[in-house]
Amino acid sequence: MKAQRTIVVATRNPGKIREISDVLAQAQVRLVGLDQFGPIQEPQETGETFGQNARDKALYYARATGQWALADDSGLAVDALDGAPGVHSARYAADQCPPGAGRKILDPANNAKLLAALTDVPDELRTARFVCHLALASPDRVLIETFDTIEGRIGWKEKGDNGFGYDPLFFVEPSGCTTAELSPKQKNKISHRGKALIHFADILATFLTEWR
Ligand code: IMP
Repeated sequence: MKAQRTIVVATRNPGKIREISDVLAQAQVRLVGLDQFGPIQEPQETGETFGQNARDKALYYARATGQWALADDSGLAVDALDGAPGVHSARYAADQCPPGAGRKILDPANNAKLLAALTDVPDELRTARFVCHLALASPDRVLIETFDTIEGRIGWKEKGDNGFGYDPLFFVEPSGCTTAELSPKQKNKISHRGKALIHFADILATFLTEWR
């Protein structure tokens, strides 16, 4: 019998590692975090699409560790803003924050900037989606990619205490609540990342069978 394949989960976010481990619990792989390796400098995210960033990150970490690496890139695309903040979601309001500001400062600043940008946009034009692109790479090439979205609408003020980022402003249709009002379990079932991970788990199972 072949040894289990190791996959490096290319994130230092413990919440994401937990979510990925839950969905891939049945897969015949050993998941390890980046903290199992010595210090690895974070790559710059310079892609113009979520897909490009996910592929670049997966290849970068596969080459840095010599293992297969799974990376994701996600964000919010608002129709009335031509898809912004898009690949700049994490740092949308960085220009209004102190240099080096972390999530605790950036997340509320991003939400305030988004609300300001949509001040004159009526309900029916506040449509948006969270997008998640996943990529698995070996040191040589990208092996698997999956992608999914969750459709919603941007509210007028923050609502709900769960989640992170833009969750308090993102109303899921048709439920009428924000993703910050859902439990992590409820959100993972319908979220962009949760659905992209389920597709990934399916393809990975076939891929590993063929690979052996
Ligand atoms: P990253 O893929 O972790 O770099 O996420 C980029 C940014 O997109 C995050 O910092 C959030 O601002 C936003 N984002 C991605 N997924 C979500 C989500 O599920 N809820 C709220 N915000 C999200």
